Amino acid sequence: MLEVSYCEKEKELIQFWKENKIFEKSVEQRPEANPYVFYDGPPFATGLPHYGHILSFVTKDLFPRYWTMKGYRCERKWGWDCHGLPIESICEEALNIKQKNEIYEMGISNFNEFCRSKVLWYTNEWKKTVERMGKWIEFDDSYKTMDNTYMETIWYIFKKIYEQGHVYRGKKVLYYCPRCETPLSNYEIAMDNSYKDVTEQSITVKFKLKEDPGTSLLAWTTTPWTLIGNVALAVNSKKDYVQIKIGNEFLILIKTRLGIVTEDFDIIREFKGKELINKQYIPLYQLSPNTNEKGYIVIDGGDEVLSDEGTGIIHLAIYGEFDYEMIKKYDLPIIQHIDEHGKLSKGPRDWLGLWFKDVDSEVLGDLSERELLYLSENYSHSYPFCYRCDTPLLYNALDAWFVNIQKIKPLLIQTNEDIKWYPKEVSKRYQNILQTAPDWCISRNRFWATAMPIWECQGCKNVKVFGSIKELQEFAVEEVSDNLDLHKHIVDEIHINCPRCGKVMSRVPEVFDCWLESGSMPFASKHYPFENVEWFKSNFPSDFVSEYIAQVRAWFYYMHVISILLFRDIPFRNVVVNGTILAEDGTKMSKSKRNFPDPNLIIEKFGADALRIYLLSSQLMRAQDLNFKEEIVKQVYRRFNLLLINVVKFYSMIENDNFKEDLEVSGNILDKWIISLLNVLIRDVTERLDDYDTAETSRLFFSFVEDLSTWYIKNSRDRLKSENRHEQVFAINTLSVVLTNLSKLLAPITPFISEMIYLKLKEKNIVYLESVHLESWPDFDEMLIDPNIQNQMNLTREVVRKSLELRESFKIPIRQVLQKITIRGINLNKEYFDVIAGAINVKDIILKTGKETDFSVELDTNITSELRLEGIARNLIRHLNNYRKKLKLSPKNRINLYFETNNSEILDAFEKFEERIKNLVQADKMINRIEGKSEVKQIKLGQDVVEVYIEIKN
Ligand SMILES: [Zn+2]
Ligand SMILES: [Zn+2]
Repeated sequence: MLEVSYCEKEKELIQFWKENKIFEKSVEQRPEANPYVFYDGPPFATGLPHYGHILSFVTKDLFPRYWTMKGYRCERKWGWDCHGLPIESICEEALNIKQKNEIYEMGISNFNEFCRSKVLWYTNEWKKTVERMGKWIEFDDSYKTMDNTYMETIWYIFKKIYEQGHVYRGKKVLYYCPRCETPLSNYEIAMDNSYKDVTEQSITVKFKLKEDPGTSLLAWTTTPWTLIGNVALAVNSKKDYVQIKIGNEFLILIKTRLGIVTEDFDIIREFKGKELINKQYIPLYQLSPNTNEKGYIVIDGGDEVLSDEGTGIIHLAIYGEFDYEMIKKYDLPIIQHIDEHGKLSKGPRDWLGLWFKDVDSEVLGDLSERELLYLSENYSHSYPFCYRCDTPLLYNALDAWFVNIQKIKPLLIQTNEDIKWYPKEVSKRYQNILQTAPDWCISRNRFWATAMPIWECQGCKNVKVFGSIKELQEFAVEEVSDNLDLHKHIVDEIHINCPRCGKVMSRVPEVFDCWLESGSMPFASKHYPFENVEWFKSNFPSDFVSEYIAQVRAWFYYMHVISILLFRDIPFRNVVVNGTILAEDGTKMSKSKRNFPDPNLIIEKFGADALRIYLLSSQLMRAQDLNFKEEIVKQVYRRFNLLLINVVKFYSMIENDNFKEDLEVSGNILDKWIISLLNVLIRDVTERLDDYDTAETSRLFFSFVEDLSTWYIKNSRDRLKSENRHEQVFAINTLSVVLTNLSKLLAPITPFISEMIYLKLKEKNIVYLESVHLESWPDFDEMLIDPNIQNQMNLTREVVRKSLELRESFKIPIRQVLQKITIRGINLNKEYFDVIAGAINVKDIILKTGKETDFSVELDTNITSELRLEGIARNLIRHLNNYRKKLKLSPKNRINLYFETNNSEILDAFEKFEERIKNLVQADKMINRIEGKSEVKQIKLGQDVVEVYIEIKN
């Protein structure tokens, strides 16, 4: 069966598992009362699965398999994230929509239905990759965030947290995409790495003091367009400022930044920033309609005003987080001069309607003409762009709905202690995220998402929130069906009568942030609490979740927030965080640059198992980034998969009807050694997997497979094929035990090769279950672990290594038996001598131990004629057995051996070692005559030739 190409065999196993419902059985056979709860975070199906997804398939497959084998019931259900900008963006492109108002023109209903029809575009491709990687999950019956049951739970959750007073409506400065016309949150921008380095004009401008127009405050900005909406200037009251004189002009700036002044100047005086507070200045563009309003004054910005950048005087407009805070604090006028499309709506008449970025050059020219521009320079900095449409974002103060995070922050930080992060360091990182977390903007001014269940009275501004369809039915003016679709275009049609004033209440236009949806997955995927209340009790929180590092501040965070809001409890106990997979050169993998190999081709070349263990053994599992290298996958395939396959191939060729189940433990030292190693492996792998450490687990396997293949098998070949049945039974039993346990241990990591081994063992009646994946996790036996044997075997290997080096340096082939080896400086038990003798082909081993001697190996390289003849005889035996194999003879077939040669030394060898040759080639007679025989075989020994003929007797 291993003759079929490895990848083909993997595909056969996928079929085998499917046809025999092995996954389903593996879950159902475990008791419901003993769950291991796993949440599979829902991905967007808006593209094909890439390496990052494949990594998550593998991590999320391993641990459920492991805990299943440990006796837990681990149900696994696939889910899809269906809402939000990613899918809207794809649909806009398909519909050739350039601007938000085109969606209103085509009708929100048409747009949303189009999104609904396209959202599961790629599910078949996903299914194929999930299956091909050996990930087991209920795929077809997946939950979707656009399911009505899912959305109803979102309503329930929102109402609950609203009633608890965690929700408020407010203005908040958020990054805003003027093309998509929606705010984006900082994490969304950070997550998709949407910052780009840009070079723009930074300008330093003059604000003339009202009381003394000959003196100007110098302020610096990288966004000249915001100057139109300037309302105040901020200084740091504690820092030193200077007034300088250049020609007839007086300028004020922070002392530490005098370096920006290029002309000659005199310092007139030096003073604390405090002196500037409340000074009024003449605005560059006066927009504030009400002259009674405060504004155009200097305020104290505190330490936020830096002394190592700009001029130490910050210009404030509403388009910045700090700015907005100050505006609120000092009750300054709110001036928004850019409309929702990103165009200038207030300001000099000629510029109205200009794109906000285009206003920069107008401002520059205008201020320069008015001699208010002090300096303009190129300035390189990173600037955020919309991750879906690539439009430069602007900070904007927007009306939005928020969840108050500040109130629950202490509890978030405290409960983080109950979450186990892998690797541990992420916990600290997460704590920092929690400490600086802003309030959560949960509303979006978009279309394809769960509609917010908030109705507002057009008369008295009364607000009503619904937590279920049933509640809405009670109040709705229109007929509401039991399974009302909760998308915007449908729910917008429902009105209610205001219980307070009797006027009509309409739904607010916003929809939910899709992170509220994915973060509610533990509840919404089960339509909790409308259904599954009992089930939920034993299935929350989850034991395990896993995602890549960017999700720490996204999915993990939002799940945590929602669980705290609902239950004051954590949503998961163990989190495995992966790093990011980069292209081989360390850059981001990019389809257009074609800088990475197609994952499907890698799987076809090396198999899913090799890719699995390559990823699982890498630093990705320590949350570090990895440059993907095909060469390493290939090496893993060769050093792990191929070695193991060859062991199994060898094993399957041994006729082992000699296997006895309850045989006493073998006394052979190689057997005892590999059994000791096996038990150490079981112990350590269990410990590592209990600690969610796959990198070390993989390393343990690499090392064990190498020991098994290049030491145990290599030095046990003769015993495994021995005619001495007693000796052979022990060896075969040992190898069977090793392979049985190894197949179980590998089952979660490399499910394919593990199953191949298991089915081979089954053919030989060594194991009995339908699949290794229905087996239990093996236990180790402390009694069988013998550190002394391991130490002695290490020494033995060292002796062999040195001896082989010596042979190599004297150019003596391994088949030439040598008389003796002298070992000095180590203590080695006699039972290891056989191993050494066999491995390096010497007759006698002499051990000389003295306290002061260093470890050394001395090889007697003198080849006596006796040794020469013995060497020839061994060579003959090897050739003859190869010939027997060619004739397809089994060890049971007895023969008569005819031979002839002109070389007297070879004749001598035949004579002297007749009994040994007969024994080892299963010959009854040896006859030195070949005359008259057809089909004569010529054996070459160096320059000489032996002709042989084999007569088969049975
Ligand atoms: Zn955009
Ligand atoms: Zn009302």
